[in-house]
Amino acid sequence: MVYIANEQRYESIPYHRCGNSGLKLPAISLGLWNNFGGEDVFENQRRMLQRAFDLGITHFDLANNYGPPPGSAEENFGQILKKDFLPYRDELIISTKAGFGMWPGPYGDWGSKKYLVASLDQSLKRMGLDYVDIFYHHRPDPETPLEETMAALDLIVQQGKALYVGISNYNAEQTKKAIGILKEQGTPFVIHQAAYSMLNRWVEDGLTDVLEKEGAGCIAFVPLAQGLLTNKYLNGIPSDSRAAKDYIPFLSEKDISDDVINKVQQLNELANERGQSLAQMALMWVLQEKSVVSALIGASKVEQIEENVKALDHSSFTQEELTKINQILK
Ligand code: NDP
Repeated sequence: MVYIANEQRYESIPYHRCGNSGLKLPAISLGLWNNFGGEDVFENQRRMLQRAFDLGITHFDLANNYGPPPGSAEENFGQILKKDFLPYRDELIISTKAGFGMWPGPYGDWGSKKYLVASLDQSLKRMGLDYVDIFYHHRPDPETPLEETMAALDLIVQQGKALYVGISNYNAEQTKKAIGILKEQGTPFVIHQAAYSMLNRWVEDGLTDVLEKEGAGCIAFVPLAQGLLTNKYLNGIPSDSRAAKDYIPFLSEKDISDDVINKVQQLNELANERGQSLAQMALMWVLQEKSVVSALIGASKVEQIEENVKALDHSSFTQEELTKINQILK
């Protein structure tokens, strides 16, 4: 069946300007790290992307290594793009990244110019795109000079293979240096992709100050702590959850400790008092932080995306609620 996007798609989500740039991102974006690989059901992936776009999610985030196997999320996304989204390409912000191990040998990992340029070429082929909207260096490289990595990002923009560039997983100090180098090279730094959730607040310790000062935006990844900040694990590990899937090594039983569940239970009660689900409250909470422009969620089902977008119906917090959250998280 031919996909025709919902005509009301721009009525559910606000779009936030990313720092001082011209780029606007939806308050909620969708990432394809999990549930879009070779092991996952293609038609479910397609339904999730269609529903997300119908709800106004214009930003889809990928990386060279998303799968498993690595590369398969970009391949699947490329197929879905071709089937459903080509008429809407100019309404989409598509990002990818390189920085983790992708192919054997000295040129398939970290932050050399060789790796970044070659990897983006591969990503473009897998997705069937001429350019991505955002290209990120995925993690800092302790050995390659930062000047070289930033020069690779600058080159990629000059070549028209990416419109904007960003970094991910760089700390505040590294971010400041990277921004300084990019400024000298003439390519504006637009966005930092950083892990941020109620269970992981490291960005508050300097990074968001740097981003605010430099006029850049932050997109918060793993805002639901991979599902921990939902009602999913309150009564054990459901068989259809990420923690139960053997082929996903990133969340396991040991991460779901009594201490975490205790906090999650208290947060869940507070969310219910606000008339929200815990997932909804957790998403609105990350958007409270300065310079955070979008919460970058993952999903395994259409219904999760629908629930998460509804979070925007009740976005503000009272000071009392914020204090209570801090007390629970202590
Ligand atoms: P989340 O913290 O949003 O976790 C998503 C998972 O939470 C879903 O797969 C689902 O789990 C569960 N979930 C989502 N909504 C609901 C709901 N309403 N009710 C119950 N459960 C729900 O983020 P991810 O860990 O998926 O990461 C999001 C994106 O961030 C990635 O796709 C990627 O784009 C980016 N990322 C970037 C990194 C980087 O280094 N730059 C690293 C990691 C991620 P289940 O599958 O069990 O149903």
